[in-house]
Amino acid sequence: MTEAAPASRRPVWVDPAACVGSGSCANVAPGVFRIDEESGVAVVVSQDGAPVADVEEAIAICPVEAIAYLAAGAADAPPSSPQARGI
Ligand code: SF4
Repeated sequence: MTEAAPASRRPVWVDPAACVGSGSCANVAPGVFRIDEESGVAVVVSQDGAPVADVEEAIAICPVEAIAYLAAGAADAPPSSPQARGI
C-alpha cells in the first residue's frame, strides 16, 4: 500500500523563463535545487532532498519568484521546465 505524501510536501518547479540563476535556492536547499551548467538556471534535482522549511525558504528568497508549487499530486513539471525538456 502506497502512502500519500504529507500535505506539506508539495512538488516544486522552477520557471526557466523567470530564473536569473542567482543560485540562492541551491545554496539554501542544495538537495532540491542546483544550477544547470548549460542553461544557467536552477533545476529541481529531487523533490524530497531537503526539509520542507528549506524549500519554503528558497521560494521566499528567490529574487524573481521563479519557484512555484505544482498542483498537489502532479507528477511532472510543466513542459517549459528544463527537467521536462531533459536539460
Ligand atoms: S533563487 Fe530563483 S532566480 Fe535564483 S537560481 Fe533559484 S530559481 Fe533562479
